[in-house]
Amino acid sequence: MSYTTKENLIECFNPATQEKISDVQITQEPEIRRMVKKAEGAFLIWSSLGIQKKIEYLKNIYDIIISEKNNIAQTITKNNGKPLAESYLTEIASTLQVMEYFIKNGANLLSNKEIALGPLYPTKKSFIEYEPIGVIGIIEPWNYPFYLPFSVITKTLITGNTFIFKPSSTVSAIGKLIEDILTRSGIPEGVANVIYGDSRAADILLDSEIDKVVFTGSASVGKKIAEICLKKLIPVCLELGGKDPAIVINDSNIDYAAGGILWGAISNCGQACASIERVYVQAEIYNEFTDRISSLVRQLKIGDGLVDETDVGPLINEEQLIKIEDHINDAVKKGAKVLCGGKRIVRDGYFFEPTVLTNVNHSMKVMQEETFGPVIPIMRFEEIEEAIHLANGSKYGLAASVWTSNNDIAKKIASSLNCGTVWINDSLFLQAHPACPWTGYKESGYGSSTIYDFTKPKHINFDKGYIPGIRPKSYWWYPYKGKAGSYSDLIEVLYKPTLKEKATASFKTILDFLK
Ligand code: NAD
Repeated sequence: MSYTTKENLIECFNPATQEKISDVQITQEPEIRRMVKKAEGAFLIWSSLGIQKKIEYLKNIYDIIISEKNNIAQTITKNNGKPLAESYLTEIASTLQVMEYFIKNGANLLSNKEIALGPLYPTKKSFIEYEPIGVIGIIEPWNYPFYLPFSVITKTLITGNTFIFKPSSTVSAIGKLIEDILTRSGIPEGVANVIYGDSRAADILLDSEIDKVVFTGSASVGKKIAEICLKKLIPVCLELGGKDPAIVINDSNIDYAAGGILWGAISNCGQACASIERVYVQAEIYNEFTDRISSLVRQLKIGDGLVDETDVGPLINEEQLIKIEDHINDAVKKGAKVLCGGKRIVRDGYFFEPTVLTNVNHSMKVMQEETFGPVIPIMRFEEIEEAIHLANGSKYGLAASVWTSNNDIAKKIASSLNCGTVWINDSLFLQAHPACPWTGYKESGYGSSTIYDFTKPKHINFDKGYIPGIRPKSYWWYPYKGKAGSYSDLIEVLYKPTLKEKATASFKTILDFLK
């Protein structure tokens, strides 16, 4: 249990100690509906504010985050359990990276873009204007409880939208912190709204007059949300689960690959959407690799994330512990070998030993379902094609990593993998860098969340206007008499492949058009 609900309160607990850290009021239905109405009203004001003014508010948020980073990191670690080092790096620094990027580049990215129309349209100009969408419903998970919301909130605000954000109830204390930062930034009332509660609060939000949903969470809930959005005919971005493979080729530096895969699999206690959840190692280095990574796993310091030396904190709750035990038991029953770890740690909090499994195969849950824990299942392969086939043998397609000193092999494998991101000789870092797309394939979701996904592109085309003898009218206007033959010639001039063929087509016809 890392939260319970009682008398309209969410009680939040520290997953490392099971101590209560705060009570947060559940937002009731009338209040959620009122907030959505207010956000609709605020949209009119916020969307018409100039971009520099919006950026000023983002800068206020950015400044508060920097000046209060220590308090923020403590709250994240207390409510989510991750080590302080990760709270600073993967939550606060990542948030600031996104904010800084859009504060610097937002105006340019969102400025009107002129489109080259080509010589056929000498009097016309086209450009794209990026309009805001409206009120965005943002529903987020507990595993990156500060960075994920702020990444979406930044793009929502800079593009001129207003929002209602629902954090996972598990991390309501961090949601409160986010609400507090938003309020203190001075952002106009009604623009930025936070609601608290579980799926019931999400359902009310989804039933309201929102204009888009950005959902990050499990594939099962994502499918339900997709159905609701389909019925409402509103756009949705789904960032869902993963079962990310790592492929290690014979020519890899084993120390480097083992260290990188260890971090990619175990950081955040393995509870990242893009955690390495399956490792495929080429036969020649398989034994050395499994020995090396097991020895590194044994050196990890497990404990309360607030303690400086802690590498691995607790899992978020009891359900996670039960799921991981189930995956390991299933694997062992089907022949897997536990090289190290394999069981929960008896102490307060939800601690599980980082685990290395070998002799695994694709009939096991640990190689098919999202484990979301500190477990590294390793499988041997002979040929590279076999590794690609195994890596693609999952219902998920979020990310993958390839470990080799041969760039050509790396690129070839990367292009063959059926997923949205591939890291070569690293993993997990730069997850969702603001300048790069982050999108899942297959059951890992759809709809990326680039800045443009928070806008409605509007194409505006204008003609300089008709001046007799100087600027012609559009040549396709009435009357048609005599034009069919000219159009036929025009098609040849434009689309015949060789110059000679084009030249034989009638230039006289073109002159006719321009009259
Ligand atoms: P979850 O799907 O259980 O919950 C996510 C959010 O949805 C929470 O706010 C929750 O309250 C709400 N919710 C839960 N049930 C709901 C329902 N029936 N209707 C409407 N809303 C509902 O996910 P989680 O356990 O909080 O997070 C872990 C999952 O998120 C993992 O699968 C992980 O891979 C995924 N994730 C994906 C990304 C990505 O970028 N692709 C990033 C982080 C996490």
